[in-house]
Amino acid sequence: MKRTAELSDGLSPERRRRLVQVLFIFVNLALVETHLPGPLWLAVGGIFWLALVGITVAGSGLVCGTMCWIGAIQDIFEPFARPRIRLDARFGRAVVLALLLLWMPLGWLVMPELAAHDVTPIDLNLAWERHAFQFGLAALAATSVMFLGKRGLCRYLCPFNSVVAQIRKLVPRKTPRAVASSIACPPHSGGCSGCSRIAVTSATHERLSLI
Ligand code: SF4
Repeated sequence: MKRTAELSDGLSPERRRRLVQVLFIFVNLALVETHLPGPLWLAVGGIFWLALVGITVAGSGLVCGTMCWIGAIQDIFEPFARPRIRLDARFGRAVVLALLLLWMPLGWLVMPELAAHDVTPIDLNLAWERHAFQFGLAALAATSVMFLGKRGLCRYLCPFNSVVAQIRKLVPRKTPRAVASSIACPPHSGGCSGCSRIAVTSATHERLSLI
């Protein structure tokens, strides 16, 4: 059955996943904010991210395996991955989480007039120089693998799976072992991809992420 699916469009599951990842890279980068969002976009973005946390808590590896542009770019540049630098993952993820939570309130404090009106985060102006910020972020994610290794940003700096792991501790459900065995790792070219499977417990996360 699986073989029939592969042959029907001539694409391997890995290649199909890569194509979807590329699509998500463009969608995500188009949505990246280059200005301070107002309360409406904070609410829309907040609900969206809570939904992503929710489906990952429920056991889906979709976010880290396919949807996240940071993970996708690191996967694409995986052949250049060299773990030259090791960081304190716990500290790095805590700092990034604090920054993610604080940049908007602090921005509103410094520029309160911006909190009063909402503008769409989707910039339909296609002039490339208007998107230098997004290109810069993509380049940063791509070059990160050359210093931090495969999925280094996920391992050292992204708090997403730490948040998922904390919520899992609060939500009684299947045992961690049962959850881990019920989630299939997304197909990738080998090694840990930083998907939700490593968020089952922080201890498991730490152990796997150091491989
Ligand atoms: S660990 Fe974070 S950066 Fe990495 S793929 Fe998941 S959400 Fe994206």
